[in-house]
Amino acid sequence: MIVTETGKKNAYEAALENFDLAANALELNPDIREMIKYPERILEVNLPVRMDDGHIHRFEGYRVQHSTARGPAKGGIRYHPNVTLDEVKALATWMTWKCAVVNIPFGGAKGGVTCSPKDMSQAELERMTRRYAASILPIIGPERDIPAPDVYTNSQIMAWIMDTYSMTKGYPIPGVVTGKPISLGGSLGRNEATGRGVFYTIQGACEHLKIPIKGAKVVVQGFGNAGSIAAQLLDSAQAFVVGVSDSRGCVYNINGLDIPKLIMHKEKTGTVIGFPAAEEIRPDELFALKCDIFIPAALENAIDEENAPTIKAKIVAEAANGPVTPQGDLVLESKGIFVIPDILCNAGGVTVSYFEWVQDEQHLFWEAQDVYNRLERVMKTSFAEVMKIHLEHKVSVRTAANMLGIGRVAEATKLRGLYP
Ligand code: NAD
Repeated sequence: MIVTETGKKNAYEAALENFDLAANALELNPDIREMIKYPERILEVNLPVRMDDGHIHRFEGYRVQHSTARGPAKGGIRYHPNVTLDEVKALATWMTWKCAVVNIPFGGAKGGVTCSPKDMSQAELERMTRRYAASILPIIGPERDIPAPDVYTNSQIMAWIMDTYSMTKGYPIPGVVTGKPISLGGSLGRNEATGRGVFYTIQGACEHLKIPIKGAKVVVQGFGNAGSIAAQLLDSAQAFVVGVSDSRGCVYNINGLDIPKLIMHKEKTGTVIGFPAAEEIRPDELFALKCDIFIPAALENAIDEENAPTIKAKIVAEAANGPVTPQGDLVLESKGIFVIPDILCNAGGVTVSYFEWVQDEQHLFWEAQDVYNRLERVMKTSFAEVMKIHLEHKVSVRTAANMLGIGRVAEATKLRGLYP
């Protein structure tokens, strides 16, 4: 078994365990199981980069294509000091099931570079990004594998990848990445797509559980792209976001934090810490806050068997990928907490990435409201499909989502047959 330094299972182990649960529930044919469970292709790259002081630093990077059964591989690129090959494999696996859950014609991939972007200059980040793009260039492309932003990567980094790829090929190819700046073929609505999708699935869960969003108390762990936009939309729907955290700490106000002001504060200072009209609390206190909706929107394994018993929410909405360990899941289930699983909850990001790719390929761009309407339709349809399996098969919502995604990948694999 693969375990982390702390002796806990790592994210890839959790991904495989969740696959087995769903594959068993589907009574999946053992041959198909063997064909779809593991990544199709793994690329590991060494990236020598000249740093601003003149010395050369070697970074390690990865690109994992888990599946191309239903279409080109699709998935973000993460820059973080804790990136490992196993983490990237887990994230790539989840991308496959996620794209299938929302029924977009993509397989799953993920990339990562082990680095500390906060300690690097823009020039260093650009050189590292271009070297990484050049190193993974043989396996990416609009018809093969389309990267996007993930933790600590953004539209500027996508622009550098698009430029590096285009310069090498000799003509502009915007469809090689999504999450680009609008002026380079990005889509309106992509930046807020993940948080918006999280919001739509929370609406679905609240309707199912008959919890009014108006007046609901919300806690968000990880106030980045996904977390802050979800918080903003819930705040606009008159929920009270009472607690929020980022990598530097947690802030709390029992009467609800002023989210638009908190977003401005984070933009200005780089952290939620020091926000007026809020008290600072410890992470363990944040997890134990009395609330209706808890949104883990940071990294994997945030909720485990140790802190899951302290969670008081009625709904856990997984904006992050893999934020609940399998052991943590069992605790939440035993407490009757409704978990909106990551591959459904945060699928709004990849859905609008798909819309961006379609627009790039057609050279025809849509209005923001058009993007929102299509996204809402996709998220609500997918939510209903997952709930149908959840209720009919009496399995957890996570297993139901995995059954929907894995079932679609299995069907495509069976139809394509085995080459040669
Ligand atoms: P981001 O870099 O914009 O934000 C991450 C936030 O998490 C930052 O505010 C950071 O300070 C905070 N954070 C890091 N470690 C933390 C900790 N230990 N405790 C509390 N906060 C912590 O990243 P993002 O794009 O919002 O991604 C967040 C999660 O959502 C990731 O799991 C990512 O894979 C997932 N996700 C993102 C998208 C997307 O389109 N951005 C799509 C699907 C899933």
